Amino acid sequence: MSQNGSVKNMEVSSPAAVVGDVAKTALKNLVARKLLPWPDVYGLEFWNVAREKGLTEIMGEHGGEFILSREAIEAFLSDTGQVLDGIRDTVDDFVTGTKNHVEGISTTLEDMRQDRAKDNSLLVRIGQLIAHNQALKAHTARAEERLREQTVLIKELQDKLRIDPLTGLYNRRALEKDLDREINRAFRYRFPLSVLMADLDHFKKVNDTYGHQVGDKVLQSLASIFRDTVRDVDLLYRYGGEEFVIILPHTCCEDAITLAERLKVRVQQHVFTVRRQGITIHQTISLGCAELLVGESKENLLFRTDRALYRAKGNGRNRVEAACGPESIQEGDAVN
Ligand code: GH3
Ligand code: MG
Ligand code: MG
Repeated sequence: MSQNGSVKNMEVSSPAAVVGDVAKTALKNLVARKLLPWPDVYGLEFWNVAREKGLTEIMGEHGGEFILSREAIEAFLSDTGQVLDGIRDTVDDFVTGTKNHVEGISTTLEDMRQDRAKDNSLLVRIGQLIAHNQALKAHTARAEERLREQTVLIKELQDKLRIDPLTGLYNRRALEKDLDREINRAFRYRFPLSVLMADLDHFKKVNDTYGHQVGDKVLQSLASIFRDTVRDVDLLYRYGGEEFVIILPHTCCEDAITLAERLKVRVQQHVFTVRRQGITIHQTISLGCAELLVGESKENLLFRTDRALYRAKGNGRNRVEAACGPESIQEGDAVN
């Protein structure tokens, strides 16, 4: 290797440049010592191309043989060095680019792997949510079912609170509520509403004669007669011990009187019997009826009905008395 600046270059050159310098120097030495065989080393094709391109100046004639001039070889080596540099740059670019791309692909793959992991975790969470949702659905359905059952139970309990246990008719508590509702409807839709009140005549005698249990059976049988006689829309209540109230929606006083008479007759014609004891009882009822007046309160309506009943009692029992119009309001009556 020469002692010129190439050593200095080597210190800063890449390995490929060093190899190029070594090749150039070795070639120069071979040429200088005339040891360069021709054309075997460079190949015939090379010189053919050189001649075709008019590059004969790079070749010197020596002893009838072509040999490369020092300048030509240096120029050639310089060109090939540049080509080598170009190749090296290209390779470096390629390697760098490939590395970048590999890096990019690796990073992307890693990202994809992580995304996939995220997707998986998301899928797991979605699966959990679906499971929760299904469990919640079932839970809601069960709760709904239980709620429905409990609603039925509550309704039954509420109904029990409204029902008189002896007769199965509605009780006085139910009457208070229902009459308010029916009066409101009657006012709103402008239809007539009447109320009947029935009381057993001399019922105390029945209890006194046959005992309280027989008296109960009479009350039960009477409730059945009432049920069988009124319309479905009519509402039956046991108002007190042996007193009954019937709300008659869409019924004017005249029709209420007709129904009251029918009830009176049916009860009168009925023979109450307690077979085991061979008891037969003839029972009658007295009835009062009143039709709702415009703007009248529940209390006043019941008051007028009760007074009509009182009149029926006073007029001989087993009869019907009615308070059919405003003329039925006497001094001291409160109409709200
Ligand atoms: P009136 O014709 O004036 O109505 O005479 P009454 O005897 O029916 O009336 P009173 O108010 O003097 O007596 C009502 C009787 O009704 C007294 C009570 O023994 C009876 N009674 C009230 N509730 C019940 C009940 O739940 N069961 C039975 N067996 N009797 C009852
Ligand atoms: Mg009575
Ligand atoms: Mg009574």
